[in-house]
Amino acid sequence: MPLAGRTNRHPFRPIVTLGATAEPVDMGRLERALREANIPTLVGVLAHLTGDERWLRPPYLPTRTKGMSDHATGGLTEQAQGEVRMAALAEVRRWHETGCPAARDLDDTELARIMSVCMGEPVPPRYSGMMAEEMGLRPRFDNVRVARLSAQTKNSAVIVGAGASGICMAVQLKQAGIPFTIVEKNSDVGGTWWENRYPDCGVDTPSYWYSFSFRPSTWSRYYSKREDVHTYLRMLVDEYGLREHILFDTKVDAARYHEDTNTWQITASGSGNTRVELESTFLITAVGQLNQPKVPAIPGQETFAHPRFHSARWPEGLDLRGKRVAVIGTGASAMQLVPAIASQVRHLTVFQRSPQWVAPNAEYKRMLSDSAHYLMAHVPYYAAWYRMRQVWAFGDKIHHSLVIDPGWRDSQIAVNPVNDGYRKYFEAYLREQLAGRPDLIEKALPDYPPFGKRMLLDNGWFHTLTLPHVDLETAAITSIGPDSIRTADGVEHEADVIVYATGFDTLNLLGSFDVRGRDGVVLRDQWGDDDARAYLGITERGFPNMFMVYGPNTNLGHGGSLLFITECQVRYVMGLIAQMAENGVASVECRQDVRDDYNAQLDAAHAKLLWTHPAVRTWYRNDQGRVVTNSPWRLVDLWERSLAPSLVDYEVTTVAPRRVSAVPS
Ligand code: NAP
Repeated sequence: MPLAGRTNRHPFRPIVTLGATAEPVDMGRLERALREANIPTLVGVLAHLTGDERWLRPPYLPTRTKGMSDHATGGLTEQAQGEVRMAALAEVRRWHETGCPAARDLDDTELARIMSVCMGEPVPPRYSGMMAEEMGLRPRFDNVRVARLSAQTKNSAVIVGAGASGICMAVQLKQAGIPFTIVEKNSDVGGTWWENRYPDCGVDTPSYWYSFSFRPSTWSRYYSKREDVHTYLRMLVDEYGLREHILFDTKVDAARYHEDTNTWQITASGSGNTRVELESTFLITAVGQLNQPKVPAIPGQETFAHPRFHSARWPEGLDLRGKRVAVIGTGASAMQLVPAIASQVRHLTVFQRSPQWVAPNAEYKRMLSDSAHYLMAHVPYYAAWYRMRQVWAFGDKIHHSLVIDPGWRDSQIAVNPVNDGYRKYFEAYLREQLAGRPDLIEKALPDYPPFGKRMLLDNGWFHTLTLPHVDLETAAITSIGPDSIRTADGVEHEADVIVYATGFDTLNLLGSFDVRGRDGVVLRDQWGDDDARAYLGITERGFPNMFMVYGPNTNLGHGGSLLFITECQVRYVMGLIAQMAENGVASVECRQDVRDDYNAQLDAAHAKLLWTHPAVRTWYRNDQGRVVTNSPWRLVDLWERSLAPSLVDYEVTTVAPRRVSAVPS
């Protein structure tokens, strides 16, 4: 029987109900949907809503969630599962009948206790603050404060890039009432999710976490494809009224800081070679790390007589039917596109320079059912607890397996006992998948520790390699001719199409435009070609009022959602802007000692992790062996470090700023 909808008074509307506020609840439908519910999530919901201790005791204690599994039954007996589902049904009814009240606040200890029950393993109270924000139980952004403080200032911002980071930044600036313009080189928003259109391109962080905490959404797949992520980002742009702030088809050429006015002057090229000049108090770079395609210089490649392109430049409408296709590279992009095109092509040759560790993942192709959406929409806090489980399962859990144990015996293939356990597990999976093909096992088995490169999820990769028309080639490429690729063993591999799935120029951060700070200091001179450093990855000495989102050492290698990191950085920037307003500060410039001390800590942390290990070769590291792109910290460390910006870390000027509009002149 439908329950009449009531006005939802809950302050955390989006994540709790995902928009089901005044919608009637069909109890029959809900009962059916609950049969497919994730039991550990329901246990969290019941413990949270009722405060009843019984949900934190046997027989309702879920077993540990292993690996990347959704662990839908929680390992409970059929009877206990049934009791949880029935109790949830009753609780939803009660919740609606009592006017959809806000649930009681959970302090850090109680939240950690319920989280631990939900995951079947201890989740330390240290995670409670971060998780409460991820779940929408506590606000991450205080833009009302920023707006109040900023109202008296004449600050403005130019954001470079309308990808996920730029959009997140713009949403917060808009809510705080700070004028801004986004300069975007493409004709649409989305950054990497707009540019990458290769077949089967998608995310390998679960969808319910790969979305901003301040704007949850419903997702059709457990792991979203690029189209869905792009649609989500476009939706944010429209919903928050950002489009009118964006200069599309406009590429920033240079940004120069003027200390006499404490402002940035930005020069850009618009469509038709028009010159665009902007002036603003803040320069916020949100250009990403994975957007400069890297194509190796292979002798003779310009003579190739057929299509050849980078995976991030996939030609629209390309028909591969009947073609002999060569894919160079076996990273995350190749891993997705190779299985997707295999059934179309006549022949496929995959050129591998290094083998990859690949993890099994039962959820990889899972579609999310209507029932899942109904639960997200109608069971209070279900979406919040579901997300919490993903944050934990895909977050810091494996971080300790990256730490080098100096006493570990066989450090070439594993760096500590836990890492070795993972190696054995992934190796057994690889051998099982490639059983009967010792040739492939020999080629595909990595000889370096797991997690040394980004861990890939098996989407049919191994199966594809076993197909009769697919070859895995490990001899080095020596040259390319009009119709073929030649390898070091002298073999000519005929090809009608070459796909360079060879990654991105990640080390030359902010290399796409000229940045000059105080006293004309050139960012490229300061960083060189491949040694970017910043305080928290956000601010840099010599570059007042410049904030980077997804700057140096902010990429994640052990787990996590990049959107989480983005939110942490954006929150930091907003907090700093608020403090500037509060203290009449016109410019902030990171102190040299603060920046150096932070980077010393960072490098020391990296020295203990496997990405600096000689057995590992990765794009995270420059030629000197320094990790430039990735963070060594746990997510919770990053969250804590970026929680409370302090002007103490900055040299400030308090000269009254003049008004600048951040709109084209
Ligand atoms: P990538 O991980 O850097 O992989 C590039 C591949 O090309 C590697 O196998 C590399 O071999 C190979 N390669 C590079 N230069 C070569 C050369 N000269 N000759 C032969 N092989 C060469 O690039 P990607 O696959 O585009 O992924 C980049 C990043 O994008 C990922 O790490 C991830 O962060 C992100 N991404 C994520 C997803 C996802 O979420 N599912 C999907 C795509 C991309 P070596 O290993 O020997 O260097």
